[in-house]
Amino acid sequence: MTTRTTTSFEVRNPATGIAVGEYPVHTADHVTAAVARGRSAGTWWAALDFEERRRHLDRWRAEITRGRDDLAHLMHEEMGKPISDAKLEIVMALEHLKWAAHNARGVLARRTVGASLLTINQGCSVEYRPFGVVGVIGPWNYPVFTPLSSISFALAAGNAVVFKPSEYSPGVGVWLGEAFGRAVPEVPVLQVITGAGETGAALCRSGVGKIGFTGSTETGKRVMSACAENLTPVLMECGGKDALLVDADADLTAAADAAIWGGMSNAGQTCLGVERVYVHTEVYDEFLTKLLALTDDLRAGDEPAKIGPITMPKQLDVIRRHLGDALARGGSALIGGPDAIDGQFVQPTILVNVPEDCSAVTEETFGPTLTVTRVADMDEAVELVNASEYGLGATVFARRHGREIADRIHTGGTSINAFVAHATVPNLPLGGVGASGFGRVHGPDGLREFTYSKSTTWQRFPLPLALTTFARKPLTDAIVDRLVSALHGRIR
Ligand code: NDP
Repeated sequence: MTTRTTTSFEVRNPATGIAVGEYPVHTADHVTAAVARGRSAGTWWAALDFEERRRHLDRWRAEITRGRDDLAHLMHEEMGKPISDAKLEIVMALEHLKWAAHNARGVLARRTVGASLLTINQGCSVEYRPFGVVGVIGPWNYPVFTPLSSISFALAAGNAVVFKPSEYSPGVGVWLGEAFGRAVPEVPVLQVITGAGETGAALCRSGVGKIGFTGSTETGKRVMSACAENLTPVLMECGGKDALLVDADADLTAAADAAIWGGMSNAGQTCLGVERVYVHTEVYDEFLTKLLALTDDLRAGDEPAKIGPITMPKQLDVIRRHLGDALARGGSALIGGPDAIDGQFVQPTILVNVPEDCSAVTEETFGPTLTVTRVADMDEAVELVNASEYGLGATVFARRHGREIADRIHTGGTSINAFVAHATVPNLPLGGVGASGFGRVHGPDGLREFTYSKSTTWQRFPLPLALTTFARKPLTDAIVDRLVSALHGRIR
């Protein structure tokens, strides 16, 4: 929760309403100044070799690790997640930070590549160079993991970063920036600016080399439109409506556990969270029984409850609308429902018999709710999953056909027999398709995302057939013509 004046804003704990911090509203001028400082810091940072940057980033990782209790506490205070979940989030972020720092050289450093027959006289190399300054705009729901998924990779690639955290989690952003400043005191390679959407919009227009955006699809469109003014490239990590599929031969105990954790943890405020479950008709009843049993002692409340509050007050209206729509259209709530909304807390809600065109199935709910739908077979499940405009992730539970089912799902990633494992493996890219965005964080693609490729050739000897010259002879044209036929024209 936040309250704002023109120069500062206050952050309130969403569970208690108590003020937990006050931060400046940075204006377009502040943003311009930060980007200018970032430019010279970026020159210094980019001139270091990969090994030196790795050492600096390892020191930052150690700073975060040593301070993780404080950081987890701050995350809990600002956006409400349980402290134990906050600590788990930090661990995941550290794994990716380490991977980025230790693999940047292998992925990005200059390497020679082969030429073709017609360009045989050229030596060739490609390298991946930093943009200079990258702007990162992050959400509040995973206020460490999601921004670091961009920041760690942008820094490891040699960029300076100006980071605008969500107005719901500015303290976490400032904490990360200060920890970086202790690890790398020389120049401001990572700067944090605070404020609301206008500050983010100013960052989009500031002339940075790229914007790494993580947030909702609607805001993503506004970010793209602002970036278009300067042709600033963007990475879009947007919303989702992820599904979990349960085949007839699945381990139902594991599937139910994954559905409950995937749907309810972080109060359902997870981009890759499970919002829809499609279950093979043969095991539907048994699965539902197991699912409901897991909710017996699951309550939303302040610490030590396992489910925290809904962070943004306005999200409660979305959740209420989705639940109301589902029930009005013939669905029913086996637990929870509209009455389960009490202040900032929403109790776990499981809906069944919800028509596929209800907002609870088509739109991102971002609350601890699941729709559970009976399907005749996995063909029907795949068809319903792929009908969504979103395509972030999916989870498949199956013993024999997991791989075949996963291969047919149109999402940026799919995990078989484990919830969102693909987002936790440092070597794997993460991102979406469709309304879930484009571009990738994590893995080699995540490093290249914050670079541009630079190709270089050097002529090793002149070709007997000089091609790119006005001095080219008719004989040369005739030889090339024959060569072209031989090289490309024989395929039937
Ligand atoms: P928002 O889209 O509301 O905000 C995201 C960020 O954009 C915030 O820092 C916000 O600032 C900023 N912002 C708002 N308006 C503008 C603007 N006009 N120009 C530039 N920046 C702006 O998302 P939430 O913070 O509510 O995060 C939840 C969303 O993020 C969900 O849709 C979720 O699915 C998605 N998400 C996607 C992930 C992925 O990997 N694909 C991962 C995590 C979340 P402020 O908060 O100060 O308004």
